[in-house]
Amino acid sequence: MFNSLRIAFFSLLLLGTIGTKSYGQTNNTPKQPNIVFIISDDHAYQAIGAYGGKLMTTPNIDRIAKEGAIFQNSFVTNSICGPSRATLLTGKYSHQNGYPLNEKKFDVNQFLFSRLLQENNYQTAWVGKWHLGNLPQGFDYFNILRGQGNYYNPDFISSHKDTIQQNGYVTNIITEKSLAWLNSRDQNKPFCLVVGEKATHREWIPDLPDLGAYDAIQFPLPTNFYDTYEGRDAAMRQDMTVEKTMRMNEDVKVHMDYKTGDFKRLNDEQRAVLKKYYDGVTKEFDEKKLTGKELSAWKFQRYMKDYLAVAKSMDRNIGKILDYLDKNNLVENTVLIYVSDQGFYLGEHGWFDKRFMYEESLKTPFLIRYPKMIKPGTNITRFASNIDWAPTILDLAHVKIPAEVQGISLVPLLKNNQIKQWKDELYYHYYEYPEPHHVSPHFGIRTTQYKLIRFYNATTTWEFYDLKNDPSEMKNGIDEKKYQSTIANLKTKLNLLIDKYQDKEAKAILEKENQLKK
Ligand code: CA
Repeated sequence: MFNSLRIAFFSLLLLGTIGTKSYGQTNNTPKQPNIVFIISDDHAYQAIGAYGGKLMTTPNIDRIAKEGAIFQNSFVTNSICGPSRATLLTGKYSHQNGYPLNEKKFDVNQFLFSRLLQENNYQTAWVGKWHLGNLPQGFDYFNILRGQGNYYNPDFISSHKDTIQQNGYVTNIITEKSLAWLNSRDQNKPFCLVVGEKATHREWIPDLPDLGAYDAIQFPLPTNFYDTYEGRDAAMRQDMTVEKTMRMNEDVKVHMDYKTGDFKRLNDEQRAVLKKYYDGVTKEFDEKKLTGKELSAWKFQRYMKDYLAVAKSMDRNIGKILDYLDKNNLVENTVLIYVSDQGFYLGEHGWFDKRFMYEESLKTPFLIRYPKMIKPGTNITRFASNIDWAPTILDLAHVKIPAEVQGISLVPLLKNNQIKQWKDELYYHYYEYPEPHHVSPHFGIRTTQYKLIRFYNATTTWEFYDLKNDPSEMKNGIDEKKYQSTIANLKTKLNLLIDKYQDKEAKAILEKENQLKK
């Protein structure tokens, strides 16, 4: 009698949810967690302690790993800024969400995970860098940087559509605005806050207290800093080296013109402090009179010192968000995520910037804390990518993932990182060419041990890497006899992924190549 009543009761509940997108917030579903999603810009895992980075300490980001989980094989599907944020919003590849290149207008009228959260009881906000050529939708509140944003005294556009210049350093302001929104939110509803950091994007201008924080340190040059790109035509053609591409003034801040770029926004006090510091750098440059390899190595040191100082401010600001969650009793029921929009070269292959499917820019930091689900100190080596971020958030929020989403929920992995069945292939496609860095468009596949890349447009070449034997990807093994069966197998898998993710452009390129062979 009791059982049949119970069945009838649950059947009614089930009927109630059929035809709707959500599980809603009914008594039979678990409480929806809050979500804080911090997405930085160009922050390399090599600069994070939790990833084994020795360049600097990052106690606050590391704390997320200590109290939650760290993904060792977290990838992006197109390694540039705007497209990665478009993928966060949609859970889709660039060719499906229509945003493969920077500096275009992202279509905000398509499916966005945040809109689905809004429809399912959440209050949503995006604070900081958005940079998608459009105003956000799917967010009850936004307060975003205008365009790329500036490190000092940046302009913000709020949901009221007003543009206001804010005094101060960008990373501090983004934190202040984020915490102000958290304070003003409706305490009776779950929230999802995206914090979009400008750090650590070029041109790496540190906050005043962090200037010179790493000046006493001589950073080791990456072993392949003087890479000559032998056997790698696309790498040969790029324009993103510390040696040639990195500008002496805007990037290295030698003989800086304080009337241009970010520097023209400074107030007198900021200008005085920055000028004093970079005058010292200029003096050193003038006195040393370096050329050739010595000059490249010196530029690398300057790059590291500014880049890491910008990262130092960000880690400190992430600490403020962690403190806020601590003090407001929000740790247990809040999912806290830290990612970068992609990885970045810190001198590997002689580069800064990203774009290539090589490890440093393909991989991106991804750490997550959710005490109700994730054991502290969880180390995850299974594959995850940025198409998975949106479906994971939806799943954690007990919202049904729409079929059009291409990523998968990582929740099974968060519950059990020893899970038996999991994806072990990643599909990648990069587009932007020729400006700004002359990286030939390419697509490819990465498995646990191998990587196969097909470049097109600037150069029609294949590259193959055995990551176990060549983790720095210095030796293109595409013509090596011993790898031919592995390469044939990878080409088959690549074709399957292209079909799975419906990448028509890549499919046409490979079909054309096969026809030419016949
Ligand atoms: Ca970026």
